[in-house]
Amino acid sequence: MDLKLTAYITLICTSGVFNLFLGTYVLLKRHYFTKIANFFVLYTFLITIYCFAAAFGLMATTLEEIKFWTTVQYIGLAFSPPAGLLFIRYYLGKRITKRGTAALMSFSAVTLLLVATNDVHHFHYRVFDVHPSMGLPYITQEIGIWYMIYGTFIFSCMFAAFLMLVSRWKETEKTYRPQLIALMISQLVPMCTAFVYLIGATPPGIDPVPTVLWISSALLLWSTTASRLFTIMPIAKESIFHSIHDGVIVLDSRNQIIEFNQASSRMFNFLKRSLLGRDFSSVWIEACGEPFPAAMTDTSCTQEFEFSEFPKKVYQIRTSPLMQGSAKKGMLLIFSDFTELKQLQWKLEHQAYYDELTNVYNRRAFFQHSEKMFIEAQKNAVPFTVILTDIDFFKSVNDTYGHDTGDEVLKHVVNSCQEQLSEDILFARYGGEEFVVAVSGKTLLEVEALANQLRENLACQPVSFPTGPITVTLSSGVAAVTAEDKTLSQLLIKADKALYQAKEAGRNKVHVYTALQAESSI
Ligand code: GH3
Ligand code: MG
Ligand code: MG
Repeated sequence: MDLKLTAYITLICTSGVFNLFLGTYVLLKRHYFTKIANFFVLYTFLITIYCFAAAFGLMATTLEEIKFWTTVQYIGLAFSPPAGLLFIRYYLGKRITKRGTAALMSFSAVTLLLVATNDVHHFHYRVFDVHPSMGLPYITQEIGIWYMIYGTFIFSCMFAAFLMLVSRWKETEKTYRPQLIALMISQLVPMCTAFVYLIGATPPGIDPVPTVLWISSALLLWSTTASRLFTIMPIAKESIFHSIHDGVIVLDSRNQIIEFNQASSRMFNFLKRSLLGRDFSSVWIEACGEPFPAAMTDTSCTQEFEFSEFPKKVYQIRTSPLMQGSAKKGMLLIFSDFTELKQLQWKLEHQAYYDELTNVYNRRAFFQHSEKMFIEAQKNAVPFTVILTDIDFFKSVNDTYGHDTGDEVLKHVVNSCQEQLSEDILFARYGGEEFVVAVSGKTLLEVEALANQLRENLACQPVSFPTGPITVTLSSGVAAVTAEDKTLSQLLIKADKALYQAKEAGRNKVHVYTALQAESSI
C-alpha cells in the first residue's frame, strides 16, 4: 500500500472516528440539546458510516469488495445531506412535516437501492471499474442518469440549508453570528470539496469528501453547544408571536403580506399562507368587499372597525410603520378584539336609556330627546305637544292577579300604544304605570285624536291570560306648548293637571289642558 493511500485512509478514518465520537457524545448528552440532538446524532452516524466504508473500500482487494463498500458508503452519502438539512431547519426553529421528512428520506432510499443494484441497470454508474492504469483500490467511473439526479438532490439539500442560514443573517444578533457562519461553512465544506472532486481537480480514483467531513461535524457541534440561546430564541420569538391574543400582520415596504400570527388568521379566516407576498390592500378588498378601513401612513394611528361577519365583531386596528432609521421598511397591523367590551358598552348604554321591563325609552332618555324636540320646535315655531297617560286602576290588577301579571299587562299596554305611533313620535315609560308621548309639528286637535286613538285601541284589546282576559284602560292629559311655556317641565305640569282631570272625570278619558281648565274632550 503506497504512502499516499495510507495517508488518505488515515485521514478518512480520523474523520470517521471524530464523527463517531461527536455522535456518541451528543447521544449521551442529548437532554442538553433539545430535539435537534436527534438530527445531529443521525447526521454524524451517517457520516461515520460513509467515512469508514470509504476507508474499507480503499483497503479492498477485489472489485466486488469495492462495490460492497460503495453501497455501504451510500447509506451515509445518500442520507446525510437531507439529515443535515433537517438538522439546520430544527436549529433555526422551523418545523418539518412528517410528510416532508419522509419525502426527503425516500429519495435517499431509492438512491441506496439503485447503487446496490447498479450492476443490473447501470442507472447510477454507467461504468464502475478498477482504474486501468492505477489498479486496485482505485476506480474509474462514468456517472449514470440517476447519479446526476442524486447529485442535484444532495447539492440542493446542502444549498437549501446554506440559504436558510443566510436568510437568518439579518435577524441574528451579532453575538450569535459566528455560530451562523460556522453552520454555513459546515454546509459549504462538503459542497465545495465534492465540486472540486467532480471537476477532476483532486487526485484521481479517490473521493476526497470523507477526508474533510470532520470539519463540518466539528463546526456543527460547536454551533450547537455555543449557541443554545440562539436555538431557543427564534422558537421563543415565534411562540410569542403566535401566542399573543391580538392579531398581528406584518407588511413589507410595498404593503405585501410578509407574516401573520395565528390570532389574526382566527380573526380573519381568509388569511392563508398562500397569501404571503400578496398586496394586502387588494387581499382585503377581495375578502371584505371594501377598502381596508385604517390609514397606512408614516405615522401610527388607531381606529375602531366593525367587521360585518356573523357574529358581528369590533376590532381596534393599530397601524404603525416599521422604521429603520428614517427609512420605512414596512407596516405592522395590530388587531385587538373589542367585541366583548363594545357589547358591554352597548348593554350599559341600553340599560341607561331603556326601560328594562318594556324595552321602551325610560324617563332619562325621554327628557334627553324631548328637550331637543322642544327647543327645535320653538326655534322653528312648530307646535309641540305632550300626552301624559296613566293606566286606570292598575293597582287592582296587581292586587287581583299578582305582580307578574301586572308586568305582562304593562308590556301589553306598551305594544298597544306602539302600534299606533309613528317613528317620529317620542314614546317613553314615565314611571310606574305612566307613559309619556311627545309630538312635534302636529296640531293640538291631531294630538288629542292620537291620545284617543291610543285609549280606544287599548280598551278594545284585552290581554289573554290562563285565568281569563284582562282589559285595562288609559286616562290621558294633553298639553300643547304656548308662549308662556318656557320649559318642558312647565308643559308636563299642565299635561299632568289635564290627566288628573281625566281621572276625576271617571277615567278612560282624554283631557286637554286649557287655560281655564274647563274644557275637556272625551
Ligand atoms: P289610577 O286609576 O288612579 O291611576 O289607579 P292606579 O291603581 O292605577 O294607581 P296607583 O298609583 O294607586 O297604583 C299604581 C300601581 O302601579 C302601584 C304600583 O304597584 C304599580 N306598579 C308600578 N310600577 C309597576 C311595575 O313595574 N309592575 C307592576 N306589576 N306594577 C307596577
Ligand atoms: Mg294608574
Ligand atoms: Mg299612576
